[in-house]
Amino acid sequence: MSIAENYARIRKEIPDYVTIIAAGKTKSPEEIREVIDAGATDIGENYVQEAVKMCGALDEKAREVKWHMIGHLQTNKINKALKIFDIIQTIDSLEKALAIEKRAAKIVPEKTIPVYIEINIGNEDSKAGIEPEKYEPFEKFMEKLIRDISKFEHLRVEGLMTMGPRFGNPEDSRPHFRRTKKIFESIKNLDIPNVNLQYLSMGMTNSYRVAIEEGSNMVRIGTAIFGERI
Ligand SMILES: *Cc1c(COP(=O)(O)O)cnc(C)c1O
Repeated sequence: MSIAENYARIRKEIPDYVTIIAAGKTKSPEEIREVIDAGATDIGENYVQEAVKMCGALDEKAREVKWHMIGHLQTNKINKALKIFDIIQTIDSLEKALAIEKRAAKIVPEKTIPVYIEINIGNEDSKAGIEPEKYEPFEKFMEKLIRDISKFEHLRVEGLMTMGPRFGNPEDSRPHFRRTKKIFESIKNLDIPNVNLQYLSMGMTNSYRVAIEEGSNMVRIGTAIFGERI
């Protein structure tokens, strides 16, 4: 099946309220153009440099969609990232948020950048994001972090993001997704000023169905749209 067919099939399969991020790492501008023409509204990129190239190659077409940073953001790439990305999904510390705030104030002072907090819900060594087991009680830790970030003028916390195990049985991810949804709800209920928690970004090719069942409203899908990465 073509990229356009894959996108359309997944779009039809899942509820309308779920945003699909087409995860474009390693893909060519032609492939991204195809998914945009098939109706994709949001593209995820893992590397600043790839995103810069992609947006350059797509030119006008790039402006039809929102660009999400879904990979680890290095401090020395923040300035470039701020020019490309509409949303940064990978905030993993107060220091990172502050580094972005400072640069945003200089480079894009008129903007408020939506940011999501990345949680490494499975406490996996190989994964980015905040590990709950290091910060117990975790809900309290998250509340404090988000209250601190809420004071930054150029950032607005709008979501939580988590990966969960990529391979294996998606059922193994279910308890992790459920826990993330609970954290999401508990923070949402605090109604923190200058925080607008709306997006729960979880679920990838092998796990998006389970993630949606557990409350995700944003899935990041690469392989099921574009085919296996080689
Ligand atoms: C690659 C990637 C995805 C998509 O993975 P697939 O398994 O190909 O769907 C989602 N989120 C992040 C952060 C990624 O790096």
